[in-house]
Amino acid sequence: MDNREVYDVAIVGAGPAGLTAAIYCGRAGLKTLVMERMVPGGQAATTDKIENYPGFPEGISGPELMRKMEAQARKFGVPVEMTEVTGIEKNGDMFRLTLPDGEVRSRSVIIATGSRERPLGVPGEKEYRGRGVSYCATCDGAFYRGKEVVVVGGGDSAIVEAIFLTRFASKVSVIHRRDQLRAAAALRERAMANPKIQFVWNTVVTGIYGTDKVEYVSLKNRVTGEESRLDTSGVFVYAGLVPNSEFVIGKLELTQDGYILTDEFLQTTLPGVFAAGDVRKKPARQVATAVGDGALAAMSAENFLALQVRGQK
Ligand code: NAP
Repeated sequence: MDNREVYDVAIVGAGPAGLTAAIYCGRAGLKTLVMERMVPGGQAATTDKIENYPGFPEGISGPELMRKMEAQARKFGVPVEMTEVTGIEKNGDMFRLTLPDGEVRSRSVIIATGSRERPLGVPGEKEYRGRGVSYCATCDGAFYRGKEVVVVGGGDSAIVEAIFLTRFASKVSVIHRRDQLRAAAALRERAMANPKIQFVWNTVVTGIYGTDKVEYVSLKNRVTGEESRLDTSGVFVYAGLVPNSEFVIGKLELTQDGYILTDEFLQTTLPGVFAAGDVRKKPARQVATAVGDGALAAMSAENFLALQVRGQK
């Protein structure tokens, strides 16, 4: 990456929103750069199978879909660089994005940094991460062949991954703090009908214990107050998401939980900076909605740049 370049659009994050924005910007002939701190693909790339993304009636694996999106962005001439953006400043009409080894200058910015798993925050969770505690069933599920595992949470992620884990595990206990799942009806029904899945309702995990690896979790029933212990080899945590927006705190308006506020064109409170996908405040977090955001943010950035050029004439 050449730090002397000035880009039309700098895209932060290479998940479905960022890569779609890249496809649109590249195709529109804008000088575009995508920066990603981890591997391209975002959380979608850690999903075994995506069944509700249009165009793939048999479903498509998350990694494969994301490889295709990245290839399409590169086809339109957009580089995808591995680097972390740690700050953003506006100087006149130019944005400066801080990187560990320099900066990138751009005339507009699309933030598509997505979100990450929210930890449970219970004793043992940090200590046993990678030794029985996991946030990615697709990555780690196969290590639990023939073993009993626990999934914490009742949303779409928890239920999708609980179903996935039944391929390997002999038993999957879904521990949910209420007595109703938040997950979509189709997923709920599939999980309820799966003989390998058992539900532990109204219950929270209060600690994760073992020796060198996880051996059991302590539980507390929120209705009766009863405390118990459940032997398990693995704990898969799906307790919701935290937006990756720390690097714009104080620069853009965020919700209390850190999601970026945008208008209907996905412009943030800083003109020229747009936000797309899971990192922004929105009612649905799906690959399809992230892709829609990416396309709209790119078109909005293109309009913003065109208006700037007209203003200069
Ligand atoms: P989510 O919808 O926020 O669900 C988080 C779950 O964790 C909830 O059931 C919540 O309980 C529970 N929870 C939160 N904090 C907890 C704690 N401290 N201890 C125990 N349980 C806790 O998160 P998600 O399932 O990761 O989904 C995130 C977004 O991605 C959603 O918009 C979802 O629709 C989307 N998604 C979609 C699909 C799909 O196939 N369409 C797949 C994955 C994700 P309560 O229910 O009591 O709040």
